[in-house]
Amino acid sequence: MSQLGVGKEVLSYCNKCKLTLAHLVMTMKSDTIIGKVQCKTCQNTHAYKDPSNVKASKTKKGKTTKKSTSADSISDIWMNRVASSSSKSQKYSIKAKFELGDIIDHPKFGPGVIDKLIDADKIQVIFRHDIKTLIHNK
Ligand SMILES: [Zn+2]
Repeated sequence: MSQLGVGKEVLSYCNKCKLTLAHLVMTMKSDTIIGKVQCKTCQNTHAYKDPSNVKASKTKKGKTTKKSTSADSISDIWMNRVASSSSKSQKYSIKAKFELGDIIDHPKFGPGVIDKLIDADKIQVIFRHDIKTLIHNK
């Protein structure tokens, strides 16, 4: 590599251009460590950023936040289910028979969605704040 020094051209990552571009060295921290650089494209002066270091930190982007699983609260699930269901809400009664995806209207818990058919007479229902097991088909 050619000698470094003020006024020399180096490749640095530019935060403004979001690219690795030619920069002019403005200041040096030592004989081999670059201090500040000026982007030849946007004229922005900033601390020198080694392009190889930037690449390494960029790989973080691949790992997207795992929001969908644990962060989903019951009310989010409930809202999605109610919104995506095409069933009309029915009054809950232990005598009635419900199917998966049915919307029920519970006198105490409010509207809920049938999430699972546990047994011939048991259903798992997602309510806004809770998941309950209810009896039906009696
Ligand atoms: Zn720039």
